[in-house]
Amino acid sequence: MFELTEDQLQVREMVREFAKSEIAPVAAKLDEDSTFPIENVKKMAELGLFGLPFPENYGGSEMDTVTFSLVIEELAKVCASHSITVGAHISLGTAPIAMFGSDEQKEKYLPSLCSGEYLGAFGLTEPNAGSDSGGTQTTAVPDGNNYIINGSKIFITNAAYSGTIIVTAVTDKTKGKKGINAFILERGMKGLEIAKKEEKMGWRASDTRALSFDNIVVPKENLLGDSGQGFVQFMKILDGGRIGVAALSLGIAEAAYEAAKNYSKERQQFGKPISSFQAIAFMLADMAMEIEAGRHLMLNASRLKDAGKPFATEAAMAKLYCSELAMRTTTKAIQIHGGYGYIKEYPVERYFRDAKICEIGEGTSEIQRIVISRSILKD
Ligand SMILES: Cc1cc2nc3c(=O)[nH]c(=O)nc-3n(C[C@H](O)[C@H](O)[C@H](O)COP(=O)(O)OP(=O)(O)OC[C@H]3O[C@@H](n4cnc5c(N)ncnc54)[C@H](O)[C@@H]3O)c2cc1C
Repeated sequence: MFELTEDQLQVREMVREFAKSEIAPVAAKLDEDSTFPIENVKKMAELGLFGLPFPENYGGSEMDTVTFSLVIEELAKVCASHSITVGAHISLGTAPIAMFGSDEQKEKYLPSLCSGEYLGAFGLTEPNAGSDSGGTQTTAVPDGNNYIINGSKIFITNAAYSGTIIVTAVTDKTKGKKGINAFILERGMKGLEIAKKEEKMGWRASDTRALSFDNIVVPKENLLGDSGQGFVQFMKILDGGRIGVAALSLGIAEAAYEAAKNYSKERQQFGKPISSFQAIAFMLADMAMEIEAGRHLMLNASRLKDAGKPFATEAAMAKLYCSELAMRTTTKAIQIHGGYGYIKEYPVERYFRDAKICEIGEGTSEIQRIVISRSILKD
């Protein structure tokens, strides 16, 4: 049922090789120094990763969601920061324009986003509107042929390297969620301030920053889609993004599992490899089983999306299960490494730090449980 096509296998192999040769040698250092992998971003652009699912006439490769998920998973096996840089660019920064943009907007922005000339970012979260993203306080006031945008966003991935940032803002307070719209901001617009890079626990090489908007004049043609659709648009965007976070989480879990398995066969205590102790072998068995289950959930959500069927509940399930599985697996991987697992010389402590945010970003675990429970209880 879950057989991959020749094309999907080929892309996975290409990215696996790239990650091994170009990312693995620098991943630990980039994490330590909290440095954005600009050189590798250029190389990933040459591989065509930034335009992966988008139409060929805008410079994309029109590949399916399964292929996208495999790419995100392979990158995350080696470095979660590389993976989220590509994942956020595709799911959050570029997909809104591909899904809801006018022909003019697509022609203007998609080619540079697909080629990786610049990255895409998505600004939804605000200091006072996180899980409750409908509570956005940023405003966009109509003014002739423009909107004047004021407010702020926090934790925005790829912000400093983006050419476009999709932001949500309230245009009409009286209409509630229907008064929220999304706008395309361009790099360099007057009044757009991008703050310094956040110092994070994990995803340290990924670029995360706050934004502030001081009377930005945005032409009306930068409104994304029909007026009043902003809230519905970003709910749909997040559904797709959750498949990406599931794949990223799975990649981290697999990396931790492989490291722990190899270590358990080498490390000797009481005159035997520790893998010969049932306590360790059972931990590895649980890790392998959960990764297998997570892969099925992730691929199922990807395939439903590719088939044009409803996939929001399945995407939430995949994201919730895989992110919590990444936390459990990385915790066990450190346990299997004993004291060495706590030391930076071994990669499992990085995997552990990189896994935690997967339970928070693109909707916390609590929000995923709300999405799933609402869906299963609705009839
Ligand atoms: C590294 C990083 C990258 C990010 N990238 C982006 C990005 O590119 N674009 C973007 O817009 N945002 C981004 N975010 C923001 C991220 O999506 C939010 O942090 C997340 O949605 C949670 O919002 P919050 O931090 O305000 O937490 P809060 O919403 O304040 O939640 C705090 C706690 O309360 C719980 N909670 C809240 N509401 C409920 C409820 N109704 N029922 C039960 N529990 C509840 C939450 O689950 C959580 O445990 C990023 C965050 C980080 C850390």
